[in-house]
Amino acid sequence: MPPSSEQSAVPKVKVSPRGATRLKSGHVWVYRSEVLSGDGVPPGSLVAVTDQRGKPLGTALYSSSSQIAIRLISPDAVRDLHALLRERIANAIAYRETLVHGSDAYRIIFSEGDFLPGLIVDRYNDVLSLQILTQAMDANPVRETVISQLSQQLDPASIVERVDPRVRELEALPPRASGLLRGEKIATTLMMNGVRFHFEALEGQKTGAFLDQRENYAAAASYARGEGLDVFCYQGGFALHLAARCTRVTGVDSSRPALEVADQNAALNGLEIEWIEANAFDLLKDYSASNRRYDTIVLDPPAFAKTRRDLDSALRGYKELNLRALKMLRPGGILVTCSCSYHVGQSGFLEMLGAAALDAHRKLRLVEVRGQAKDHPVLLNIPETAYLKCVVASVS
Ligand code: SAH
Repeated sequence: MPPSSEQSAVPKVKVSPRGATRLKSGHVWVYRSEVLSGDGVPPGSLVAVTDQRGKPLGTALYSSSSQIAIRLISPDAVRDLHALLRERIANAIAYRETLVHGSDAYRIIFSEGDFLPGLIVDRYNDVLSLQILTQAMDANPVRETVISQLSQQLDPASIVERVDPRVRELEALPPRASGLLRGEKIATTLMMNGVRFHFEALEGQKTGAFLDQRENYAAAASYARGEGLDVFCYQGGFALHLAARCTRVTGVDSSRPALEVADQNAALNGLEIEWIEANAFDLLKDYSASNRRYDTIVLDPPAFAKTRRDLDSALRGYKELNLRALKMLRPGGILVTCSCSYHVGQSGFLEMLGAAALDAHRKLRLVEVRGQAKDHPVLLNIPETAYLKCVVASVS
């Protein structure tokens, strides 16, 4: 079949053997240093990718600025990008219908994990929160297609865009403010695992709440008992879940605004939780030195390793936290310990935990080794899609 006029108008980009090998192994990224002929390709355009000899490797979205120059969207020619986007969005929504139960807050589109590289969409009850991470997804007709498909299928009260200025800088995109794209609603309440949360679409971190922990909250609640401590509690995600099972719960975070929302969340659920504004490292040091004891401890720190270079110092940070928590757990206590650093792999994290247990002179039995909630799909051939570790251990 002769190529359609649209496909023949698509610029061609040649990639090095290294880039070609990565694509053939099921990954979708090609780095800038592996692009052999990208000069003059318009930012954010659809491109036909070929190997060094000109053999087609598929169709990709191109960035003229990011280190990730190419994100493959199809192994074939793409005749109608907008039809493809609409179909992928519909598939992502349908996939959630089979995966997510008992929650009106979850990730609807997880970028590469839903074959829509550069696009993240979260649902918080009747409010959708969207993040655009690449030139191609930022291009006006693409934005419009995404927004109209989401509106048509989900009929949200509003759609909000959360902008990460650093991402726009890396993509050489003009600055843009976070704000409403459709509708007017920016505050709502959501429900997960029977727990209710306040949600402000234009406040807070990430797109607002930590949806990737939704299933881990439920797991933590199922093992929790006695006195509970939620370290790095943010707006109370784990603490509120522990409160159903524990006799007392304390949440610790260094952010006062986060704790204020956490307190409102506790009130919304008729729960009493003690919130402490403190540096977690200092607090754990003081508490373990003064022999405080708990039956359940959750550690969910921010990503310590933002790049591979931070790995050693990140592991030292994780070890210090876990060591102190292990010392404070009563025999039979439960540790729920998390890392959202992609660069700290599961085996490295477990090794760190084993070393912390040795130093703390505690025996540790693995109860569960968990990851991110299923609405943040992991693609086996794209290791970067798996980033969250959540280990549940029994400590004796
Ligand atoms: N467990 C939370 C998410 C935690 S995000 C949830 O499920 O929603 C990481 C949190 O760590 C943020 O709220 C941030 O304010 C807090 N934080 C970062 N550094 C800290 C420190 N040194 N001490 C205490 N809290 C800290």
